[in-house]
Amino acid sequence: MHQRPLPAAEADLLDHALVRRSVRLAFPPALERRYEAETRRQRCRHLSLRLAIAVAMFDLFILNDAVMLPDVLALSAALRFVVTGLGIAVLALLRRDPPPFAREGAVAVFVLVAAATLTLMMLLSDAPYREHLSYGQLLVVMYTATVLRLRFPFTLAICAACFALHVVAITELQGVPPQIALHTSGLVLATAIFALLACWSLEREERIIYLQGLAQQRQAEALERLSLADPLTGRGNRRAIDRSLASLASSGGPIGVLIADIDHFKAFNDHHGHLAGDDCIRRVAALIGEAGGNHAELYRFGGEEFLVLLPGADHEQAAGVAEAMRRAVETARIAHGALPAGGVVTASFGVAAGPAERTRQLIDEADAALYRAKRGGRNRIEPGETSPAARPAR
Ligand code: GH3
Ligand code: MG
Ligand code: MG
Repeated sequence: MHQRPLPAAEADLLDHALVRRSVRLAFPPALERRYEAETRRQRCRHLSLRLAIAVAMFDLFILNDAVMLPDVLALSAALRFVVTGLGIAVLALLRRDPPPFAREGAVAVFVLVAAATLTLMMLLSDAPYREHLSYGQLLVVMYTATVLRLRFPFTLAICAACFALHVVAITELQGVPPQIALHTSGLVLATAIFALLACWSLEREERIIYLQGLAQQRQAEALERLSLADPLTGRGNRRAIDRSLASLASSGGPIGVLIADIDHFKAFNDHHGHLAGDDCIRRVAALIGEAGGNHAELYRFGGEEFLVLLPGADHEQAAGVAEAMRRAVETARIAHGALPAGGVVTASFGVAAGPAERTRQLIDEADAALYRAKRGGRNRIEPGETSPAARPAR
């Protein structure tokens, strides 16, 4: 069963439904729509297989008619032919994955027609043991509730109809002693009640299992998010980088790659303490994340270094983003007490751009450029060796 990610609003509904373990056989509307959409195909297949078996069984019962109702055998054959046609029509409908009411309703109509056929043949026959055919209603009721597992309201309708058909048949037939009429009616009624209970429990179990599956899916999504996030900055971690690199390796198009490193950060830590250092890393991550805009993918590479991937960016665009990030850090004026008076936190950037499948090499290139930016005085951006800006002018 394919499951799409669970939006927060539906997750709340899920909690609600799981905690209440709702005994009603319907979820809140949004969850019900999701349930229906995700289980429709499977449900139609379930019904089709069981319906096909029922049609075959129904036809085989003609052997029973040959023994029990020989006087209406020709009628039995004709009715069974018509009911088989109806069954085939319902099977054809199920192949089209119809919405719930049409799906359950169509199958229920088939079952009702088959049950009514039994009653009709009994009433038209003069065979001595014809009233015994009414036990067939027991079969119909159990089949509907536990084999087909039609949705509860439809099963309820069929149980009521089967009981009514039995009562009509047994009272219309001449010569059935009242004790037998009472006894068999009680039997059909009790079976219908048990069948309804079974139907209700089975559907409830099915729905609870579905909810538990959703809850597991949500836990897996939360774990995956955690495993990919850097706990200090909330940005992607090394695992997230590896994942992106793996998918970029087979993707086309250009990409810009930046590596940013906070300048003189060891001195910052030594002067302000590690916790203030952590705050500084967090702030710088926020500043460069904001300056990069929506298309920049920001990861914490390690320590006070960040990797920025810019899908679609060329050298010039990547350098523009790096410069905006550098300026954002500088103008935030985060005091750096270890620098001469008025010193602020700054960052240096190495910039590279090229085809996305070469992202790993571009990272190396940006790393080397970052090293040059540090040697060149820090708080600056430096293009990678394959950048047009890096080539010496002729
Ligand atoms: P440069 O300008 O050349 O980049 O010098 P630097 O001092 O920033 O570079 P260096 O690599 O020598 O120091 C990086 C420091 O970052 C050392 C380490 O203590 C600190 N650091 C790494 N990870 C964390 C962290 O999670 N929190 C804090 N507070 N400090 C960290
Ligand atoms: Mg560093
Ligand atoms: Mg540094």
